[in-house]
Amino acid sequence: MSWFKRSKENIAAETQKREIPDGLWTKCEQCGEIIHMTELQKNFYTCSKCNAHFRIGSEEYISILLDPGSFKEHDAKMRSGDPLKFVDSKKYRDRTAEAIKKTHLHDAVRWGTGTMDKRPVVVAAMDFTFIGGSMGSVVGEKIGRAIDRALKAKTPLVLVSSSGGARMMEGALSLMQMAKTSAKLARLAEARIPFISVMTDPTTGGVTASYAMLGDVNIGEPGALIGFAGPRVIKQTIGKDLPPGFQRSEFLLDHGFLDLVVHRRDMRHTVSTLFSHFA
Ligand SMILES: [Zn+2]
Repeated sequence: MSWFKRSKENIAAETQKREIPDGLWTKCEQCGEIIHMTELQKNFYTCSKCNAHFRIGSEEYISILLDPGSFKEHDAKMRSGDPLKFVDSKKYRDRTAEAIKKTHLHDAVRWGTGTMDKRPVVVAAMDFTFIGGSMGSVVGEKIGRAIDRALKAKTPLVLVSSSGGARMMEGALSLMQMAKTSAKLARLAEARIPFISVMTDPTTGGVTASYAMLGDVNIGEPGALIGFAGPRVIKQTIGKDLPPGFQRSEFLLDHGFLDLVVHRRDMRHTVSTLFSHFA
């Protein structure tokens, strides 16, 4: 009865079969907990054991914030030109084409309109998976259009950031987006229309230095890295060790850079409540 014997190959095959199928389970990078995807989703993509907030995309974040089915996306297909004909390790044109293919997005931010507890809002959320959530002319233009819409329709604006900073491949054009979005937000403030900025891990560089820090209320997710230059660069520059928790949400709250640190499960309720206070 040779078929009854377990050969080495058979054992290997069985072990492989018993392995976790791809995409159903994931591991928490902070505490090592193995979490089922359904569980993770139910917990708003946070670890129930250690509270780590997983990086999520704009689609997930918008579905957490808005009333189900209320989101209407604008300018979904807007994509970057390549005015500088920029080439680093590869052509910028190829890099964007690859990112589009990989992420099924056209750039690093999604914006649109929807409702939050039945209140009309304008929402924009960034995608870190698209070239590190970098802010180029498309991100600047889409954020700008979201602000214009909020101003015109007199609806509150909520913006979820996740970014490595300005998109270097667009040079000065990407830096100009900081001035453009900041100027538009100043007009929104003059019109007394509320803007809430939500910062997720990581929110750095030019995005922190412009619209992310200009909210009427600035909210950070727990443990999120938020800053301009990274900790390593700062450490090298000042030649001193940095305090524990430096540039994390809780540290920034203690030092007055953030107004609130809010767990993702409470984000929708918090933002909605703040909007009703402003109204
Ligand atoms: Zn964990």
